[in-house]
Amino acid sequence: MAKARVIYWFRTDLRLHDSPALKAALDLDPDVLWPIFTWDPYYVFPHFLTDIFSSLSLRLDCQNDLSASITKLNAKSKLFLLREAPQTVFPKIFKAWGVTHLVFEKDTDSYPRERDALVAAAAKTAGVQVITCPGRTLWDSDKIVAKNDGKPTMSTTQLQNAGKKLGRIDRPIAAPSSLPNPGEMPLDFEHEQPSGKPDINSERRTKKDTEYQSIAGPKGDFSIETMEELGFPSATTPHKGGETRALKLLEDIAKDKKYTATFEKPKTSPAQFEPQSTTLLSPFLHFGALSVRELYWRVQDIVDEYGKGASSPPESLTGQLYFRDMYFAAQAAIGPKFTQTVGNDHCKFIPWHLPSKVDSQTGITTGEYHVDFTEAEQWFQRWKTGTTGFPWIDALMRQLRQEGWIHHLGRHSVACFLTRGGCYIDWERGAEVFEEYLLDHEPACNAGNWQWLSCTAFFTQYFRMYSPISFPQKWDKNGDFVRRWVPELKDLPAKYIYEPWKAPLLDQKQAGVRVTGDGQLPSSAAGEKSKTYPKPMFDFGERREICLAAMKTAYKANLYGDDGRVADGSWTDL
Ligand code: FAD
Repeated sequence: MAKARVIYWFRTDLRLHDSPALKAALDLDPDVLWPIFTWDPYYVFPHFLTDIFSSLSLRLDCQNDLSASITKLNAKSKLFLLREAPQTVFPKIFKAWGVTHLVFEKDTDSYPRERDALVAAAAKTAGVQVITCPGRTLWDSDKIVAKNDGKPTMSTTQLQNAGKKLGRIDRPIAAPSSLPNPGEMPLDFEHEQPSGKPDINSERRTKKDTEYQSIAGPKGDFSIETMEELGFPSATTPHKGGETRALKLLEDIAKDKKYTATFEKPKTSPAQFEPQSTTLLSPFLHFGALSVRELYWRVQDIVDEYGKGASSPPESLTGQLYFRDMYFAAQAAIGPKFTQTVGNDHCKFIPWHLPSKVDSQTGITTGEYHVDFTEAEQWFQRWKTGTTGFPWIDALMRQLRQEGWIHHLGRHSVACFLTRGGCYIDWERGAEVFEEYLLDHEPACNAGNWQWLSCTAFFTQYFRMYSPISFPQKWDKNGDFVRRWVPELKDLPAKYIYEPWKAPLLDQKQAGVRVTGDGQLPSSAAGEKSKTYPKPMFDFGERREICLAAMKTAYKANLYGDDGRVADGSWTDL
């Protein structure tokens, strides 16, 4: 029998360890195996639409690391980058390269499902067998949904109950010790635009882009280019990607058995930095540089060994991974509309100030907004740029923009503030900013957590709000986190650090800062010795009352809480 000629298509699994799909490809005992990454618009286009290049930089780190690991196993092989959308390039290479099998890790995100169905149909036409294996989550999200009576998992208890019916989470699979040679890669067929989409950002693209019309890239060798070669400036994030780094980080975390076994998320500080208080493994999980089952079992084995005193879900480290699986399975059940309010029966409608614009034909959120130049639009811009005049919020938003990562409770603070606990702006707008800035942006986790924080799904206690003043005080009395990220306030006495507008002029003068203006001013006006920091954009106490009343009315109009009753209560600051 003719031996298999296999394309292994890397996407959300930029690793060699614990890859059930890669194992399935190698189990075919192939004659040749091409490890490839297609330059899919889904992964590449977002980088053209933002000024933040951190996540692209991490993607390249992951690709380079993976490519080097592949070459270590076979000197003739590497990660081959194909610069064309998979939907158009595969039908051509299936034929030209004599491919017999296409193997990849299953992806339950909405667009990849559609894309993969198209590619699978093209493979069928070309007589290529497609093999897919779940590998991104603890359990296969579709199977979780089936065991949850076809419904989305709206709590980690539901996820765990469905998981129990599926059996134990699989133990990780070791990385392969060798890889077959790649086959020939002839390209004597017509090339497409790399994106497969109209060029909507032509001014940013350089003339070099025309060279990318070649599938093999400008050097013609399918290589991974640098940020500079791609025409992007260096990323601002200090964080780096790659499987080697991920496994080393995990090793270091696991060495601290007490930390790993007794981890309790609510007790980790959102104000701690360098090092942060949680694992910071999310970007590695996002790119698939770290397997979630590798992390799970490493932690669970330590917990089992530790015995009494170990933490348990949902607060524990394994509990965090249940949240991740819960959102993936909720998205798998709800489909493309999971990431929006319209058409998503599980997401409560709240008449926010600035709702997203919906296409009247399709009912899909368009990504445009009813932008009026009201106060709320200014609040949104000031939130996004970290100039709200609330130092805790500004510090977090500046860290997010610069580094691409903030602590979970920091995300809670800024998300609550933008939506039901301050600005009363649509959570979809906040989610879009996170999509732009986060290194770990995961559509299911991002939308799900925004729904949680805005009390539109998963969580209904809208009267529990994050105060931008008293909440950080619990963690960081001196305001070191604010001093790090809002250097204008570096020398302000601790008692004013979260409320600088209350500092007497003399204290402002001694600290070399003036609290003035609306955030539109440059932080240091020309010719002035002292820097400026904006006044708060509203009175938080007043906004809290307004938001609470509005949420109460909206909940009553919607007539639901998660348990079928209308949630109620007077406000509690967190
Ligand atoms: P750890 O506390 O060390 O947890 C370990 C892992 O568990 C994380 O790496 C992550 O994969 C998972 N995890 C932990 N908490 C959650 C959670 N609540 N939901 C889902 N997974 C979780 N996480 C993302 O991975 N991608 C996102 O796009 C994302 N967007 C968010 C948006 C908002 C508004 C909020 C409030 C949270 C969001 N989170 C997101 C969840 C969470 O904040 C991050 O996963 C976590 O802060 C990552 O840091 P860590 O790796 O140190 O987490």
